[in-house]
Amino acid sequence: MRPAILDPLFAALDSLPGIGPKVGPLYAKLLGRESITDCRVIDLLFHAPHGLIDRRKQPGIADAPQGSIVTITGRVDRHQPPPRGKSSVPYRVFLHDETGELALTFFRVKGDWLSKALPVDDVVTVSGKVDWFNGRASMVHPDHMVKASEAASLPLVEPVYGLTAGLSPKTLKKTIDAAVERIPEIPEWLDGPLTAREGFPALKDSFERLHTPRDELDIDPRSPSRRRLAYDEFLAGQLSLALVRQKLRKVAGMPVRGDGRLRQKVLSALPFSLTGSQTTAVAEILADMAGDQRMLRLVQGDVGSGKTVVALMAMLAAVEAGGQAVLMAPTEILARQHHATLSGMARVAGLEVELLTGRMKGKEREAALERIASGDSAIIVGTHALFQDAVSYRNLVLAVVDEQHRFGVHQRLRLTSKGISPHMLVMTATPIPRTLVLAAFGDMDVSKLTEKPAGRKPIKTVIVSNERTGEIVDRLRAALAEGRKAYWICPLVEETEESDLMSVDERFATLKQVFGADVGLVHGQMPGPDKDAAMLAFKSGETRILVATTVVEVGVDVPDATIMVIEHAERFGLAQLHQLRGRVGRGSDASTCILLYKGPLGETSRARLSVMRDTEDGFVIAEEDLKLRGEGELLGTRQSGTPGFRIANLEAHGDLLEIARKDAAYVLETDPDLTGPRGTNLRTLLYFHRRDEAIRFLRAG
Ligand code: ADP
Ligand code: MG
Repeated sequence: MRPAILDPLFAALDSLPGIGPKVGPLYAKLLGRESITDCRVIDLLFHAPHGLIDRRKQPGIADAPQGSIVTITGRVDRHQPPPRGKSSVPYRVFLHDETGELALTFFRVKGDWLSKALPVDDVVTVSGKVDWFNGRASMVHPDHMVKASEAASLPLVEPVYGLTAGLSPKTLKKTIDAAVERIPEIPEWLDGPLTAREGFPALKDSFERLHTPRDELDIDPRSPSRRRLAYDEFLAGQLSLALVRQKLRKVAGMPVRGDGRLRQKVLSALPFSLTGSQTTAVAEILADMAGDQRMLRLVQGDVGSGKTVVALMAMLAAVEAGGQAVLMAPTEILARQHHATLSGMARVAGLEVELLTGRMKGKEREAALERIASGDSAIIVGTHALFQDAVSYRNLVLAVVDEQHRFGVHQRLRLTSKGISPHMLVMTATPIPRTLVLAAFGDMDVSKLTEKPAGRKPIKTVIVSNERTGEIVDRLRAALAEGRKAYWICPLVEETEESDLMSVDERFATLKQVFGADVGLVHGQMPGPDKDAAMLAFKSGETRILVATTVVEVGVDVPDATIMVIEHAERFGLAQLHQLRGRVGRGSDASTCILLYKGPLGETSRARLSVMRDTEDGFVIAEEDLKLRGEGELLGTRQSGTPGFRIANLEAHGDLLEIARKDAAYVLETDPDLTGPRGTNLRTLLYFHRRDEAIRFLRAG
């Protein structure tokens, strides 16, 4: 149960004054929620300002710089309402100080509130932007107007928030202040010495400073208050990952020691030998599986580095030891492809590979479930359907998750909730900086595939304006005549989107006019069997150009495809372009990647495409991507910060992550059930950051 002390923060957001049925939906939109009923007070606390307005400049009127925000005190001289019937003329109020005169300018004024707010002869303080025109100073709709005697109440430094249409900054600020008021005195969950060393303010003070910055330094992510909040987030994240891990580890692993007979057969039938880093990865995995702790290992390797065969070796070892192994893919296409590849390789060892996906229905599905339950099927490939309730395993000892660049611990949690505790191997394709691995997975063991399989030819990448699409088509014609195969990728165009982008359907139609039956089409909206048929036709060579959306992005393997055309390349993220390009250059023939862009290109787009042209190294691309677009994009998500975090950002707070990891490890070593004094406070932290799922692990513990 959530500690009662947090109740005021987990109250409905519309329990704050001023949020009624009218603005409620605006707040939901601001916080990215479906409706106001999904929003809690605490959510608004994390809506951090991204800048500030400094009203501290208080020059004389004559010295107010053009276009700057100033605060001015003067005496009201006269009102000049628009002439009758001319509502387009503004209402002006003139005031002066020793240096000059200022016209306060208001449009479409209704009623006589101005004569009340600015009575003639009163001395008032106003704040806003000054505009000079023909030697006269004016201020259009001042942001603040008070009697000079109340000037002290003016916020001289105001935070600037992301807004949503219809929500005024003033209303938002009022609500946020009310939310900050609600923060109770929560017993400190941070370690004393660390707090002192880092100069972290207390929790409530940190939120107060976050929302009431005093100067630019307070807006900086490196300010002590922001660092404290970031540290809290990292610590909550590391603690919950460590708890899950501790739980998974507690379940003694089943030592799996294969005798190598199946692996031997498969290896000797492969048309290649493993690279050094594949061999090392396999050895690390087998050593883990043979131990009495559960394996939790990440295999990281760039596209085309050969992760599949590494996974197969681990699965074969599981089967040699009399167990079952599953491989879960993120998409149906990929599951089917893995199934085809693995079947081909495993057959020489006399093994049939089972397929189980969400698309399988009726008798076919029943039969598969039957074979899985009886243990007749030892290697099973599929989508998340593998872990639905209807599936039971005879003796599952290894689960491989092919995440590619999609992150998530959900599946892992789900597996454990079924009461199964196999060894775990997660494969990711994007070369992720270590800090991101840590943030997303916690402290996993990592094997890296650093070498490309031998014999790969570099991919030549060119950047071409879409005005030259005709030439590209001519070149394709020649390439096809030489027996080559090409992908032609178009961005996903939503039907509602009014745009001049070429959609897959249109591109398919135009290429069909030129190449006839040689052109195939595959996209996400097609019925499953049609997708499979299209992929198969391309693989077998029945079609030689495959027009596609990014469904081919992950993992699809057609080694003799050597040309990749990406239309509107400026619309794709670098990580995505790298994934797409990784579909070619897989065989022994030289490959080409053509990035077609629609000009004019902005500076960043140009830089991004140049990175693609200049390097094939996934790590370099990932780093550049990080620089050019921020972490969220690197992981293929749209958030601007580090995925899963609200204040914390690896670029600014990366140093804190490592500290948080050690902190979490130490806590769990000394107080594994979080029942000691600090442990109890840390439970509150987990609730505060909605890491409740980790608490469940504690209780079940
Ligand atoms: P990814 O790491 O992107 O999943 P795959 O496992 O799909 O890569 O492998 C890409 C291609 O490289 C496949 O066609 C595979 O058969 C081939 N391959 C894997 N290992 C080697 C190797 N050691 N030597 C040559 N080719 C290999
Ligand atoms: Mg793969």
